[in-house]
Amino acid sequence: MDNSRRNFFKRSLGVVAAVSVAQLAANRIAFAADMPQVDEASPQAVSLGYKHDAALIDKAKYPRLADGQHCGNCALYQGAAGSEWGGCGIFAGKAVAAKGWCNAYAPKA
Ligand code: SF4
Repeated sequence: MDNSRRNFFKRSLGVVAAVSVAQLAANRIAFAADMPQVDEASPQAVSLGYKHDAALIDKAKYPRLADGQHCGNCALYQGAAGSEWGGCGIFAGKAVAAKGWCNAYAPKA
């Protein structure tokens, strides 16, 4: 294969890879927007003390909650940076609020 042909294939592969990564990111964001929100009254949410707004959590009942903690900066949050809602590794198939919190909170490394 001559050099110009080889370079053409290399560039084509790069373009395909870049488009695929962009498409995956777009799908992830769309997917998060389409997911139903966690029901705060569901047994799992109640057992983990999840609320859509961390400010509404009873700190006496959940002493692990520290100032500044919320889903948006939890290691398990799967939403895009700056998103208001996103997936969570604990609540499969459901969206949690970026400003929410639950007792499984783990800080991002
Ligand atoms: Fe929010 Fe993290 Fe709890 Fe999921 S595990 S609900 S992202 S605090």
